[in-house]
This record gives sequence, C-alpha cells and structure tokens, in this order.
Amino acid sequence: MTKDQLQNIIVNIPDFPIKGIQFKDINPILTNPAAFQSTIDIFAKFISEQKATAIVAPEARGFIFGAGVAYKLGIKLVLARKKGKLPSKTYEVEYDLEYGSTILQIHQDALTKDDRVVVIDDLIATAGTINACIELTKKTQAQVVGIASLISLSEFENKHHFNNVPLLEILKF
Ligand code: AMP
Repeated sequence: MTKDQLQNIIVNIPDFPIKGIQFKDINPILTNPAAFQSTIDIFAKFISEQKATAIVAPEARGFIFGAGVAYKLGIKLVLARKKGKLPSKTYEVEYDLEYGSTILQIHQDALTKDDRVVVIDDLIATAGTINACIELTKKTQAQVVGIASLISLSEFENKHHFNNVPLLEILKF
C-alpha cells in the first residue's frame, strides 16, 4: 500500500478528546491488514538503514508499531511506560503535556552503551513524548540513531529540535 493510500485511511476526529484537538485515529490502519503490513514495512526499512539494535517505544500506541518492527528485524523492544508500571529499577523523565505533566520510565538494564536505538511512536505533536524517550535512552548511555513516527502534525513542526538525528515521518497532516 502506498503512503497516499495510508494517508487516506487515517480518520480525523474533530474535538476529541477535548474541544480544539484534531485527533488522528490510527485504528483503521490496524483493522486493515494490508495497511498495517505496509506501515511496519516502511518503519522497518528506515530502522534497518540506521543499523538499529533496539527500539524504544512509548505507551500505548508506540508499543503496537514497535513490536511489529522489532519482530520483523529481530531487534530489542524497550517499553517506555508511565510511572509505576515497570517492576525493575528504572530511569525516569518528567515532561509537559498540553495540560499538566507526566513521567515516563524505562528499565535501567534494558539498554547498554553499545545499543543503537530508534525511538518510534504513532504521532509527533509537540514532540514532548519523543524527546522524553530520547532523554531516557541517553540515561542508559545507548546512542539514539533515529526517530520514527507514523504521523507528524505540521502545526508543531518548527518546534522540533532533534539535532540532526535521522527522522522518518511517514505521513504529514
Ligand atoms: P506529543 O508528546 O505532543 O508529541 O504527543 C504525542 C503523543 O500524544 C502521541 O503518543 C500520540 O499518541 C498522542 N497525540 C497527541 N496529539 C494527537 C492527535 N492530534 N491525534 C492523535 N494522537 C495524538
């Protein structure tokens, strides 16, 4: 399936979950097997080009794409979870949401300094979530070699600073 076809499958839901947000619903990609396979293939091509040894994925939709690619490439999947969900020793980063703040954690022993990490998520808006995952990765001494997202929202584009790390944004809205 082409990127144009994928773009047409994403459903825009106005004013969800609160007024003023244009919510991009990725569920129709998951219920269309050809669309999901194409999405994973596009992610996997980029992530293998970066010679990644690991994927860091934030909950919850990052897990879906991260798991598909980790299986396809035979590389590690490291979950970045909300505070209190991971059972072993963690590193944590607090960051701002549009309203309030949140804390993401990863297991300290999930990555080593030799790991080459691509951070993956379904959507980049302010990039707060991706930047938190980058910070978490750096706390383990591993190297961030790429950032990959199914969707990026152009209204926030100028605010992204990824310091020349290779970036895959499959669909732009
Ligand atoms: P941000 O940290 O601002 O880049 O927000 C990214 C996270 O919030 C992603 O994990 C998305 O799942 C979710 N998100 C933010 N804005 C939207 C939106 N307009 N539609 C769907 N998901 C969104």
